[in-house]
Parts: sequence; C-alpha cells; structure tokens
Amino acid sequence: MTLITESISQAAEFLINGQIIAFPTETVYGLGACIHDENAIQNIFIAKGRPSDNPLIMHIADLADLNYLVEQPLHSNITSLIEAFWPGPLTLILPLNKNLKLSPIINAGLNSIAVRMPAHQAALNLIKAVKSPLVAPSANLSGKPSPTNYLHVLQDFNNIIACILKGEITEYGLESTIINCLNPDNFQLLRAGALDIEKIQKIIQLEIKNNSFNQESQPLSPGMKYKHYSPKAEITIINSNTQIINPQESAYIGLTERLENFKKVYLANNSLDYAQNLFAFFRACDEENIKTIYAQRPESEGIGFAILERLIKASGG
Ligand code: AMP
Ligand code: MG
Repeated sequence: MTLITESISQAAEFLINGQIIAFPTETVYGLGACIHDENAIQNIFIAKGRPSDNPLIMHIADLADLNYLVEQPLHSNITSLIEAFWPGPLTLILPLNKNLKLSPIINAGLNSIAVRMPAHQAALNLIKAVKSPLVAPSANLSGKPSPTNYLHVLQDFNNIIACILKGEITEYGLESTIINCLNPDNFQLLRAGALDIEKIQKIIQLEIKNNSFNQESQPLSPGMKYKHYSPKAEITIINSNTQIINPQESAYIGLTERLENFKKVYLANNSLDYAQNLFAFFRACDEENIKTIYAQRPESEGIGFAILERLIKASGG
C-alpha cells in the first residue's frame, strides 16, 4: 500500500529509513531519495525504468548545502543567478566538489552535478526534516507525462513506492529550466522550463542552441536524448488555420477556441494555464483512449517556449 499523507515528518521518516517517496514541488511532483542512500537511489531508477545514463537533479533547502556539493568559489555570474532565482524552477549544472564521495549513479559518473532549490514550502520542509539534500527526478514512469497532481503519481506508482506527500496541483506544471554553468563565460540552455529564458537573459548572456530539440548530436544534457512527456495518443501541433479531419475522435488543447466538435477540449486562459494543465490533459486523454491530441502551437516566448519544447518532444520530434 502506498501511504498518502500531508505530514512532513511522516514522509521524512520513510526517506530516513531508506525508502523512496513522491513529493510536490512548484514544477512537477518529484520521486525523492536521500543523496547518500545509494540503494534508495538505485530504486528510483528501477521504479521509473529510467536509463542509468540519465543523471538526477539534487534538491537543496539551504545554500550551505551548495557549499559542500560543488567546487568553490562560484563565479559571480552564478551567484547572481542564484540570488535572482532561488528558490525557484532553475536547475544549475555545476562542477562537483572533488572531495565529496557521491554515488556515481546520481550523476552518471560525470564530474558535474545538477542542483536546484525548489520554491515550495512542503518540499523545503521535507528536505530540512531529512537533514539531507534529495535527488528527485519527476515522479512518473520514464517516458510518460510528468505528474502535476498526486493522483498522477498514484497512477504510475501505486503499491510501488512507500509514500506520497500530498500537496496541491503543481504551480507551473512543467519541469525546471536547466542551465549549464560549467563555463561561466558561456552559459548554455540545456532544457527550456518553468523559468522564462527572457528573465535569465536579463542577468546573464545565455546561449540557446537548438540543443534541447536536437536528437542527433551528442546532447550536453544526457536526458534530453530520450523520448519524453508522451501520452499514448499521438500529438499533432497545429496552427489556427490547420484543418482537422477527425475532431469527434480527437482532443484539442490550446488558447484559441475552435469551431470543430472535439471529443475533449482544454481551452487555456493564458500560457501559464496551458503549461499547468498540459500533462494532466495528456493523461486524461489516455484514460479516454483518445488517439490524437491536437495542441495549438504557443507563441515561442515566456513559458510558451517550454510548452513548445514539450510538445515537440511528445510528438516524437
Ligand atoms: P528530470 O529529473 O527527469 O527532470 O531530468 C533531469 C535532467 O537533468 C535530465 O535531462 C538530465 O540529463 C539533466 N542533468 C542532470 N544532471 C546533469 C549533469 N550533471 N549534466 C548535464 N545534465 C544533467
Ligand atoms: Mg522527468
């Protein structure tokens, strides 16, 4: 039985005892283990069916944790990013502290690690209660849409994980933005995400290659080469003038009302609403056995850029 609880101390107890649990963040629900518990971390990969070359993001509650995890001192551009956006949906790839004995399964044996500080009180309290940073990928089976409410976690992991720390639906509904900070003279966007790149570009210069869209070349961020976020239904990205052949058997999500008679519709109020409900809509369509989801192409700005990236990946590139 998977225990569903709102008690931080109860959830923390499972982690302290070597179990893996799901918890809410402002991006999506995470599947967490203590960073020093190799056996529990291994169990995350097994439970998710996650390829072992796809490293995990560490979640910290305190800047003091960063001091022992990464090589010091940090470049002033990096501290500027931290001051501007932490806690928040920004993951930084930083050089791993060489003196730290960390299990290589966390970071796929790289000499860097991914770190973020979530802007979610329950997540922060959980990390503090455990007295250890947590590694936490999204709490979904690998390849499936990320979970934005606790029931999605239950769909994928009922009776498989010990506990779900229950929270509200997640604020952003998309994963964090990832920046490679290994060369502070050349910050690179590795994954579009909940934090807008326009906001980041006000603080630092950011290189935006089409890396995150590119499946062919060696990706800088190992996880980006895998198919992601996919419902069983086929995703087709459409514009306002795209003709739909079979609306009665299909679903539509977007910002503009359509005249067709779709089987299922989510009309979003704005891009934030579109992002927050995208993965839940994918899952709901699968439950109704919908074969095709038509998704309106968002403007490629703000969170729309990250929505578009998810849609492209979910549609198979
Ligand atoms: P997820 O936890 O499923 O949101 O995925 C984490 C993402 O972070 C994946 O795309 C990983 O490839 C990426 N990542 C984690 N650690 C590193 C690292 N050390 N270097 C580059 N990318 C990383
Ligand atoms: Mg994931």
